[in-house]
Amino acid sequence: MAEPQKAPNENLNVLSATQSVIREALQKLGYPDEMYELLKEPLRMLTVRIPIRMDDGVVKVFTGYRAQHNDAVGPTKGGVRFHPDVNEDEVKALSMWMSLKCGIADLPYGGGKGGIVCDPRQMSFRELERLSRGYVRAISQIVGPTKDIPAPDVMTNSQIMAWMMDEYSSIREFEAPGFITGKPLVLGGSHGRETATARGVTIMIDLALAKRGIPVRGAKVIIQGFGNAGSYLAKFMHEAGAKVVGISDVYGALYDPEGLDIDDLLDRRDSFGTVTKLFSNTITNAELLEKPCDILVPAAIENQITMENAHRISAQIVVEAANGPTTLQATKILTERGILIVPDVLASAGGVVVSYFEWVQNNQGYYWTEEEVQRKLVELLTRSFESVYQVHTSRKVDMRLAAYMVGVRKMAEASRYRGWI
Ligand code: GLU
Repeated sequence: MAEPQKAPNENLNVLSATQSVIREALQKLGYPDEMYELLKEPLRMLTVRIPIRMDDGVVKVFTGYRAQHNDAVGPTKGGVRFHPDVNEDEVKALSMWMSLKCGIADLPYGGGKGGIVCDPRQMSFRELERLSRGYVRAISQIVGPTKDIPAPDVMTNSQIMAWMMDEYSSIREFEAPGFITGKPLVLGGSHGRETATARGVTIMIDLALAKRGIPVRGAKVIIQGFGNAGSYLAKFMHEAGAKVVGISDVYGALYDPEGLDIDDLLDRRDSFGTVTKLFSNTITNAELLEKPCDILVPAAIENQITMENAHRISAQIVVEAANGPTTLQATKILTERGILIVPDVLASAGGVVVSYFEWVQNNQGYYWTEEEVQRKLVELLTRSFESVYQVHTSRKVDMRLAAYMVGVRKMAEASRYRGWI
């Protein structure tokens, strides 16, 4: 993705940014400082080194992480990211965001997250398999269907989940489909999991548009990022009659005020979600974010809307499909400008909600239809959105703080009942 636009004095550390909102949320809810001390960092953080023999015979040692933020409510849950920029603070913050998502959606989980510092775009299929299996061997002591349940995230997919599940099952010597979610359907995956994050975002967009009295038909949408979330979202918005005027990938962006040919772009994108290289009329990601639209959806990586460009965002609604795309200073600017933000911990909760459905189905050995999954997803996310929106209006706090207040409450209460605080 394009370099985030840096402004002097702006905090781009996602961990400390998250900590400051958690602190504020706990204060607003009247919890003592000890609660913040408990929740400001993951309870557990494992760093592993994974030696992998590459196809050329040379051994490369990869660094991986698994963070478990809080397990007062239940086992921890969250994806595994494969990306060259993965680092300890990011994984910690991501695990805290998972706790908040699970709290907002009222799932019986705490947050977890994993990551491996690697670039899957430069690795072969078999190298990726060896790395996925090596990671599971390295973290197998602390994960499991009732302990910590991984899932896909940036640049990981159902194939990687399948290898990880197979590796875990062979270490434990029993079939353990509930060890991981986001699996292929034939291995105990759930209908609707592949598209869940995007479906969740479309539900959020519908609810946010309704609050602003804008019809979805003809609404102009810009989506930054064309990976799992961004590309399915473009498809669903297009199908709903919205006008997708901009999309982007790591190399650049396409913008057309009359609407892009989404079907063609979907046909031509590769498995990492890149498509703009095929065009000559591209603009940059930074330029795309400032183009006029009704709904702007950052669906890529962190720190894309900052103090530097927040004044020039010309959307009415920002729905964060990515984790952490807007800095705290930018949140303040957008809110002051009357732009409605649907924050990441709410907007992107669709993925973990359907992961939860997948885990429930695995535990029961009884599988649901696609319609059943969609109906439950809409129900659950509508409730989540309304509870955050209600706190936003009744407590007169911005949408991010409102989401944190809703998200943190369950784990704080569970920690208190357990006698930890
Ligand atoms: N990686 C996704 C997220 O950030 C999904 C996590 C899950 O399904 O457990 O929400």
